[in-house]
Amino acid sequence: MTTTTGFVYRFRDGNAGMRDLLGGKGANLCEMARLGLPIPPGFVVSTDGFREFARLDQRLPDGLWQEVQEALKEVEEAAGKRFGDRDNPLLVSVRSGSKFSMPGMMDTILNLGLNDETVEGLAKAANDRRFALDTYRRFIQLFAKVALHVDADADADAKRFEAVLNEARAKAGAASDADLSEADLEGVIRQFKEIASTGTEPFPTDTRDQLRIAIRAVFESWTSARAIDYRNHEHISHDLGTAVSIMAMVFGNTGPRSGTGVCFTRNPSTGERALFGEYLLNAQGEDVVSGSRTPKPISELKSEMPAPYDDLVGHAKNLENHFRDAQDIEFTIEDGRLFILQTRSGKRTAMADVRTAVEMVAEGLISRDEALLRVPANKLSHLLSPRFDDESKERAQKAGRLLGKGLNASPGAATGVVAIDGDDAERYGKSAILVRAETSADDMPAILKAGAVLTSRGGSTSHAAVVTRGLGKPAVVGLSTIHVDTQRGEFSVDGTVLKTGDAISIDGFTGEVFSGTIDTIPADISSNDNLRQLLEWADAARRLEIRANADTPGDAARARSFGAHGIGLCRTEHMFFQEERLLHIREVLMGTRSEDAEAADGTYEKALKSLEEYQTSDFRGILEAMDGLPVVIRLLDAPLHEFLPPIEGLIEDLAIAHATNKPEAEVREAEDLLEAARSLAETNPMLGHRGSRLGITKSDIYEMQVRAIFRATKELIDAGKDPQPEIMLPLVMGEAEVKSLKAGLTELAKGLGEDLGRPARIRFGTMIEVPRAALAAGAIAPHVDFFSFGSNDLTQMTFGFSRDDAEEKFLREYVETGILSRNPFATIDEKGVGRLIEIAVKEGRKGNASLELGLCGEHGGDPLSVDFCHRVGLDYVSCSAPRVAVARLAAAQAAIGQTERDV
Ligand code: ADP
Ligand code: MG
Ligand code: MG
Repeated sequence: MTTTTGFVYRFRDGNAGMRDLLGGKGANLCEMARLGLPIPPGFVVSTDGFREFARLDQRLPDGLWQEVQEALKEVEEAAGKRFGDRDNPLLVSVRSGSKFSMPGMMDTILNLGLNDETVEGLAKAANDRRFALDTYRRFIQLFAKVALHVDADADADAKRFEAVLNEARAKAGAASDADLSEADLEGVIRQFKEIASTGTEPFPTDTRDQLRIAIRAVFESWTSARAIDYRNHEHISHDLGTAVSIMAMVFGNTGPRSGTGVCFTRNPSTGERALFGEYLLNAQGEDVVSGSRTPKPISELKSEMPAPYDDLVGHAKNLENHFRDAQDIEFTIEDGRLFILQTRSGKRTAMADVRTAVEMVAEGLISRDEALLRVPANKLSHLLSPRFDDESKERAQKAGRLLGKGLNASPGAATGVVAIDGDDAERYGKSAILVRAETSADDMPAILKAGAVLTSRGGSTSHAAVVTRGLGKPAVVGLSTIHVDTQRGEFSVDGTVLKTGDAISIDGFTGEVFSGTIDTIPADISSNDNLRQLLEWADAARRLEIRANADTPGDAARARSFGAHGIGLCRTEHMFFQEERLLHIREVLMGTRSEDAEAADGTYEKALKSLEEYQTSDFRGILEAMDGLPVVIRLLDAPLHEFLPPIEGLIEDLAIAHATNKPEAEVREAEDLLEAARSLAETNPMLGHRGSRLGITKSDIYEMQVRAIFRATKELIDAGKDPQPEIMLPLVMGEAEVKSLKAGLTELAKGLGEDLGRPARIRFGTMIEVPRAALAAGAIAPHVDFFSFGSNDLTQMTFGFSRDDAEEKFLREYVETGILSRNPFATIDEKGVGRLIEIAVKEGRKGNASLELGLCGEHGGDPLSVDFCHRVGLDYVSCSAPRVAVARLAAAQAAIGQTERDV
């Protein structure tokens, strides 16, 4: 009877390694059954079944239903109850579960197998009719929602089942559903049936029909809009499909000796090693997660039900040791007996990830390499989420702006504006703080858009809490003193009303909520010992060096404190944008060198000289902040028109100057500026007169920059420092261009180099960001010391996409429809851009054996791109300062030979 060739696997036939086929939930249920844990009997319909279902246009394959019936018979035997029986009916849950956990995104139906007859059987068998009725109303509600799509898309206020329950509670003066009487529940069931009859098909009374429809509905929930959104956000493939776990129900709602809960083997916010969780007596699983009743902390279970609590502690420990990772466990206690219903690696914050990984190494549970692979590199950026400035917070407190203190569900501080619904969240984006009574999977799009979440109900394992921790967004939940009014788009607390758009601040570290804004300060990651430890291991494991992109001494110092080994890209463009410098650069752009070489004090020359002074001090600051480490300075790259005001404005200025009879000198100035702007205007600046093309046609600017670099270097050397500048040419396209530029600059450098007072030569390199340069790399390489791949421009030019236009207009659709698997500006496109890089690496090294190779686009902070850079043999990647920790870890993961799964 144990044929497992088809679509159905008994729990005893599967194991934890079968996530692809059985889903994470199903595979772990099998594993737990094998370990002998108290799991209700059941079986799993595999993702093969799902794929066949999808192929048949949403129809259950015939063989599948046959197999389900056979497996169900075995469950009946094990449970000692029969499905659809009028005396002692077996009820089952029908649960979704795919390879990667998608909490709350898909559907599960509980208590299946009830109708007007079996409900009486359940009452008799349990000797408790109130319990049977409570179970029946739960079933109707969930089945109608999931399988018959009743109120599935309704707003919170329009949900009819909830409205009926609220009314029944109010009428009975009951604090919660658990206090409703038999008679109350009969009334509720009557009304529920009416609501259910408005569904997409009649409510099935035959229990086998119920099961068939439920399996279909769970399969279909894989393709619900919210599940698709979530997978897109998390880069999970749409082809995986979901499995369906079907298992005998156990009941946490039979009375005060029953209950249900969720527990984590380590604190999911901090990673602290201590059982953490919540439970509710006389309740079923959904009640805890939905936040409809505020649960109690797990520690209280110890005194309320010592025996099941001790069992739980023992199983939790075993599960953690067995899976060698912190677990998130669902349990139910039925009349004093504990059942485990699910275990998985717990979703947790980045802080908890790091602490758990490092401590598990110390506990001897995992190796260092495993610890490095455990923490998704991208998530380290969450650790940089700011916290509130103590003084600013104190002022808010003194001003009476503290609205209350809820549960600190997800760490981080957020200051923003109140958003009550999804539209507000969309409008305000990251500055939105979504305020809701509670959240459910329907709120996912709003949560993804908002910067933080505040709820009035629910505990630290509620939907809002779990989801925000995974996303790294601050959250405060269960602030029960606030009342949210979705109709009016506002919430109130003790008489204070905050409307949509009003300023609000929440502290996810402490649970405090304030009206108004509070200043934030960047996180101090250097004080996180666990992170420092993990990154030290990463540094020992990686081969790639990590540099940072930084344009100011402050950025450079910050990057260095994050562990950057030098600067891979210092852009000089913005250095010219300050008011007084702009005047000089305009002078240089509009003027020409005086004919008379003696006239070194013409306006043009003076302007150039002033710029050189500014640049010298710019470079000195950065080189000093990175003392002893390489600093790659890229010569001016921006199209020149950027230094002049927009033409339309200049035309207007000129018209005004004429109309208001301004002095002639002023009119002439306006005319000159307009003429200059016109002469510099380009049809397509991105492909226009910029980068090395400027260096060739307007050599004074590059020469000025090189002089400034030498002077800064000399000043620092004289002061006993060790500056390591490297000069980089942007946007080159081939050998002749490089040779020409280099000839001029080295001539200049020769004179200056002798002044440096040390033999060291300043290194000289090019960016590779034009496809032609990548293809001509072999010829360019002998003339330079290094290449640095400018992967942003290289991507633009390889695809023929202008980044801004693409991201604004069509890239999203390309990714959503699968024409592109990812945004190539976020993750290197290996097939195209990556091939150009590979060619340039190979031929560049052939042309110059000591050529140093780096990459300095935003891709340098993207773990998948870092992995690529490791594989093609680059020497370093350079990324923005806040991504340095991410890159250090990603480089280690690449070296260990595996990339994190698509996070
Ligand atoms: P989700 O993935 O949304 O957590 P689950 O399939 O895990 O959905 O189920 C939802 C809730 O129902 C959970 O709290 C779970 O523990 C509970 N549950 C599932 N199956 C059973 C069962 N057979 N008996 C009792 N409770 C169950
Ligand atoms: Mg679950
Ligand atoms: Mg570029």
